[in-house]
Amino acid sequence: MPVGTQGTVKGLTPSDLRAAGTRILLSNTYHLMLRPGSGLIRSLGGLHRLMAWDRPILTDSGGYQVLSLKGLVNVREEGVEFRSHLDGAPEFLSPERSMEVQADLGSDIAVTLDHAVLLPLDAAAQREAGERTLRWTERSLRHARTLATPGGYRQLLFAIVQGGGDPALRREMAERTAHHACDGFAIGGLSVGETKDETWSLARAAVEALPPDRPRYLMGMGTPRDLLDGIACGIDLFDCVLPTRNARNGMAFTSEGPVNIRNAAHTRSDRPLDPRCSCEACALFTRAYLRHLHLAGEMLAHRMLTLHNVTFYQTLMEAARRAIERGDLHSYARECTERYRERDGDPPEPA
Ligand SMILES: [Zn+2]
Repeated sequence: MPVGTQGTVKGLTPSDLRAAGTRILLSNTYHLMLRPGSGLIRSLGGLHRLMAWDRPILTDSGGYQVLSLKGLVNVREEGVEFRSHLDGAPEFLSPERSMEVQADLGSDIAVTLDHAVLLPLDAAAQREAGERTLRWTERSLRHARTLATPGGYRQLLFAIVQGGGDPALRREMAERTAHHACDGFAIGGLSVGETKDETWSLARAAVEALPPDRPRYLMGMGTPRDLLDGIACGIDLFDCVLPTRNARNGMAFTSEGPVNIRNAAHTRSDRPLDPRCSCEACALFTRAYLRHLHLAGEMLAHRMLTLHNVTFYQTLMEAARRAIERGDLHSYARECTERYRERDGDPPEPA
């Protein structure tokens, strides 16, 4: 899922997103509840109407974004008190309020509110956050069933699995979350300070305890390598700002590895960004031109690199789906990893 934080995937129109192969995108409850406000969006017909996007939208619950406000947050059993990053105004997000906002937005998939934590954290605090997440899941799901979307259709509800950095706690939390009647599961609170190996052992502990017939969504992670590792681990849905944020910093993901378009090596390059890509940027433009646009601060550079990166991600996922259907995921992942090398003198995951 490309990330449309403010109700837009920065720089792309709905037809760009369709051309890139986007089937579903993510939008952020936290940002939209503060601005322009979920009541206004409901009165304008909901988020699909507002964005002119007729394919699915998943909204997060706002829990993680509120947590990342650091220092301005007070978690109580009732909900989370925080101050708006826009104007410092006091705000409150409870499980019920999060579901109301998501119903106003009219997303196709709403996610329950969780108590997210950053690692490292002591075991008692991790358990407390996990237990609170279970109570909030119950409250979120109960309240969501009383709400109506602007379009009158039933929202699918995903429950978040937390459990901190302990695989046994993760497994227990996943088992207990799986008792709820919900449509799918979101695995939250990963990639928050632990190593990659720890991330995957935590994800696997959760996935193994979740029912195989309901989708699993891994929240907020997604280098190309993460996607392949996550799919192999049993994850179905991902969201990540990397393809769009990195594009604006001049970083393209390509089938050969990351390309930093600012690099002087591209000054005279008449190659496309990625010869294996069919997006408009790769079909029309040379690296030399895109480098020039980026260095000149032209908005077309941001737009074209974003279009390319989203296309690259969607193509990767489409090919993974086909490989799964052929029963051939592991050789596909190996082939991608061999071709996808660090080049250009750039780290694969710039901040
Ligand atoms: Zn491209």
